[in-house]
Amino acid sequence: MESLTGLSFLGNSRGTATPTPFHASDPATGQPLEPDFYAASDSEIDQACTLAWQAFLDYRQCPDSKRAEFLRCIADEIDAAGEAITQRGVSETGLPAGRLTGERGRTCGQLRLFADLLEDGNWVQARIDLAQPERTPLPKSDIRCQQRPLGPVAIFGASNFPLAFSVAGGDTASALAAGCPVVVKAHEAHPGVSEIVATAIAAAVKKCGLHPGVFSMLNGSGKVVGKALVSHPAIKAVGFTGSRSGGCALMQIAANRLEPIPVYAEMSSINPVVILPGALAERATALAEGLQGSVTLGAGQFCTNPGLVFLPAGTDADQFALALAKQMQETPAAVMLTDGISQAFQSGVAKMASHPKVETLVPAAGQEPSAGSHATPAVFRTTIDDWVNSKEMVDEVFGPSTLLVTYDSREKLIDAIGSLEGQLTATLHGADDDWTDAHELVEAMELKAGRLVFNGFPTGVEVCHSMVHGGPFPATSDGRSTSVGTQAIYRFTRPVAWQDCPDALLPIALQSGNPRKIDRLET
Ligand code: NAP
Repeated sequence: MESLTGLSFLGNSRGTATPTPFHASDPATGQPLEPDFYAASDSEIDQACTLAWQAFLDYRQCPDSKRAEFLRCIADEIDAAGEAITQRGVSETGLPAGRLTGERGRTCGQLRLFADLLEDGNWVQARIDLAQPERTPLPKSDIRCQQRPLGPVAIFGASNFPLAFSVAGGDTASALAAGCPVVVKAHEAHPGVSEIVATAIAAAVKKCGLHPGVFSMLNGSGKVVGKALVSHPAIKAVGFTGSRSGGCALMQIAANRLEPIPVYAEMSSINPVVILPGALAERATALAEGLQGSVTLGAGQFCTNPGLVFLPAGTDADQFALALAKQMQETPAAVMLTDGISQAFQSGVAKMASHPKVETLVPAAGQEPSAGSHATPAVFRTTIDDWVNSKEMVDEVFGPSTLLVTYDSREKLIDAIGSLEGQLTATLHGADDDWTDAHELVEAMELKAGRLVFNGFPTGVEVCHSMVHGGPFPATSDGRSTSVGTQAIYRFTRPVAWQDCPDALLPIALQSGNPRKIDRLET
């Protein structure tokens, strides 16, 4: 592995050094890390976006097999750089080596899954209405439709997934699979890992003989580089994972462009968990253990972290709370990803603890200045009557914290679910007897969430064909989409119809002989 340069990637050339570099820092110690990194200039942003548009004109016509080869090549290059990624990743993110190795497996796995999807060919959703020239009173045309790529996509690397939702993460994999070049805005918290991964993608672009503009990566701040990127006329869509304020700011920039573009932002979710009486009576200790594992996984820095738990009031709930509190107290402090995230966590738990209607069962230990970005878990409790009357209790606290809400009637529970904002997930724990009258509750949950989990916990998102990692606002900016799994490809495509088009001019998937032998809806 060559040493890091700190320069942006502009197709196959590199950005320049500027007089005001920035550094990564080690969140475990707060110490800055070498080397200097340099923000992309306005002209470099323009160069990356212009190249992406030029590349799009070629790349959109690449056969699926060529794009699949490219995705597999990226995965192989990332695997080859695995040791360097883990080494740098541990110091930039504070995440343990095992987590980074696992996340690399997921990253390469999703690149290869999209390659499989392309090779299968059915993803284009071909629909064919054959002509009916004899139809009366009007003849019917031959109309054929399939998904086609949107154009260059701007992707914002996420702080909490330095690999699986960053430079070569799910957004990039799905955009490249769709036929869209990508310009990544690297997250400033892990610029070294971003550069190593960008080097791997650039090598794959070269090996596969693709137009170099198919991939660029820009360093710099969101408010300058990110804003300019989303505003550039060559960019046709945006992928983002991060804060609600960041996602909403990008939505506004995109909506105010001369040509507005879609923003697929995955933002804020507190992932409600409902425990029904039978489940609590049957397995309170196991439920407390499972919840502790889910809330504290990765220092609670997952968008699917369960931050709100409804449980039936009574002695079982008291025992559950005691068991959970004990386990949370025994959970060691963990390093958070950045100082900013750590501070946001501290202020979130302080706000919860100071609420007059909230009881603190486990207080998060305060952050010592200059001791790095550590967090210990926090548990709070309130009643459903107090919870429904307090808007402040529903804000996301990003980190290892959860709020227990005791309910005393099913009607109040259903109303409470109905009052929630959109969520990535909603979870229900029940025993056999609980399910008989759970329909209304499940329907209330479906209205709010992208994924319903039964007798499990929402952290741990499988990358597969049926996964939905989405949900109504503010979980995402567009609840019709998912950012995990193969359906993520449709964020970066649009349907195009060909009417009475000569067969030889049709895309191969729509030609009459069905040369790719794919499934098509034909009438
Ligand atoms: P963030 O502040 O939203 O930043 C994510 C990316 O968006 C960064 O590249 C950032 O640029 C850029 N950005 C932010 N605000 C912007 C704006 N107004 N205009 C243009 N670009 C903008 O998220 P973060 O740094 O990862 O973490 C901060 C907080 O976000 C956390 O404490 C947590 O509450 C939340 N978060 C939520 C999730 C989730 O999955 N729900 C995941 C991660 C974080 P810079 O590099 O300049 O910051």
